[in-house]
Amino acid sequence: MDDVEIVIVGAGSAGLAAAKVLQAAGRSFHLVEALDRIGGRAWTSSDRFGMPFDIGCAWLHAADRNPYFPEAQTAGWTLFHHDMGLDHLYFGNTRATVEEMAAVKEADAQIAALIEGHSGDADQLSELIAQGSALRAATTFSGPMDFGMDDDEISIADFRAAADLDPNYFTKEGFGALVARFGQGVPVHLSTPVKRIRWDQPGVSVETAKGTIRAKAAIVTSSPAVLAFEEIAFTPELPVGHVEAFYDLPMGMLTKIPIEIRGTRLGLNPFDDLLIERHARHDIFFLCFPFDTDLMVGFVGGDFAWEMEAAGEEAGVDFVVDRLAAIFGGEVRKHVGRSLMTKWGGERTIRGAYAACVPGRAGARATLMQPVADRIFFAGEHLAGPLIQTCGGARLSGEAVARQVMATIDRAA
Ligand SMILES: Cc1cc2nc3c(=O)[nH]c(=O)nc-3n(C[C@H](O)[C@H](O)[C@H](O)COP(=O)(O)OP(=O)(O)OC[C@H]3O[C@@H](n4cnc5c(N)ncnc54)[C@H](O)[C@@H]3O)c2cc1C
Repeated sequence: MDDVEIVIVGAGSAGLAAAKVLQAAGRSFHLVEALDRIGGRAWTSSDRFGMPFDIGCAWLHAADRNPYFPEAQTAGWTLFHHDMGLDHLYFGNTRATVEEMAAVKEADAQIAALIEGHSGDADQLSELIAQGSALRAATTFSGPMDFGMDDDEISIADFRAAADLDPNYFTKEGFGALVARFGQGVPVHLSTPVKRIRWDQPGVSVETAKGTIRAKAAIVTSSPAVLAFEEIAFTPELPVGHVEAFYDLPMGMLTKIPIEIRGTRLGLNPFDDLLIERHARHDIFFLCFPFDTDLMVGFVGGDFAWEMEAAGEEAGVDFVVDRLAAIFGGEVRKHVGRSLMTKWGGERTIRGAYAACVPGRAGARATLMQPVADRIFFAGEHLAGPLIQTCGGARLSGEAVARQVMATIDRAA
């Protein structure tokens, strides 16, 4: 491959965005992607259900600041404003009483106040959550189902720095399809994993499965887990602070298990939010029949989601159907159609859903935002400021870093 000014590693939301900024500025670059498709964690597939289903990101969070939102409107995407308020709550197989529902709603505000007012050295979110079913149920959303981590693995400082993601919109045509549309026309080398980045001479030398590219700088958008697992070797090694930051930003997990329920709506309405609180964080959340399709989309998060992926798709689907049968009656089994379980942990070039700082290590993100030797820059959802963990945030990170790289190169010239 020809020498260029900049190599971008990864054609997810961040990498595509960086490429588009460079393209618009007339800079030369190569965008290299290990997978045989663009989008990374933004991926809509119609293969299983014969209609678009988002295997990865689905909600356009923070729509008022999310650059994908106006593009979805322009593209004529069908958008639903989803308030994410809890409509149905079960403790085990027992429906929560009206009083219990009210207590959970109050607990939301209580947790927000506890986080806001928190000071001191303790940095685990679990420290703030007293024993009690209401507080616990309220934190299921913000913890495992949102941050992808159990509450004892969430840093309060990291959590507090993340934005409130309202307003949230869901799309019928798929968020992954929107990102693919965004990436149309961007030249990309697919199925081209980067193996090593050398920075022991001027510029960088990026070794891929299909040859070596020399450039002035590299933008690396791989997840921190990919970097912690040393899928890309660096020669010489990166500064120890950067290496430690990869480990301080482990990947959280969210596993989706959508099931077709045909011929009944179980007394639920499209887009209802249903939560089943269980022991030891074996909780499950359902997005009910979005857009009045036949899908009950189950979500499990945090450690349980990793366990579920290890147990395999059949076990995951059985778990979901058993939960529905326990609540709505055994008849529901007759209505079950096709199903799916997402498996992001086993995707070697991604290795999880999104990153979250280890308690006490919330500085890791700021460390990785520092370039190495003005030649190796990092971007992605894990470096997206208040929009961490989101696809829109990843795009903003990619755009900002592309501008930073151009300014750095120009300064050196
Ligand atoms: C199940 C799930 C649900 C989610 N839900 C939402 C949601 O509703 N809303 C939302 O906004 N966000 C959501 N997210 C998060 C969102 O998808 C991500 O934050 C965003 O897509 C990350 O973009 P990125 O560019 O930072 O990383 P990625 O999408 O991971 O892109 C990085 C790319 O780099 C490639 N790569 C890695 N290593 C190499 C290498 N060595 N050589 C070449 N290529 C390499 C990878 O294959 C990948 O394509 C969800 C994620 C998951 C997994």
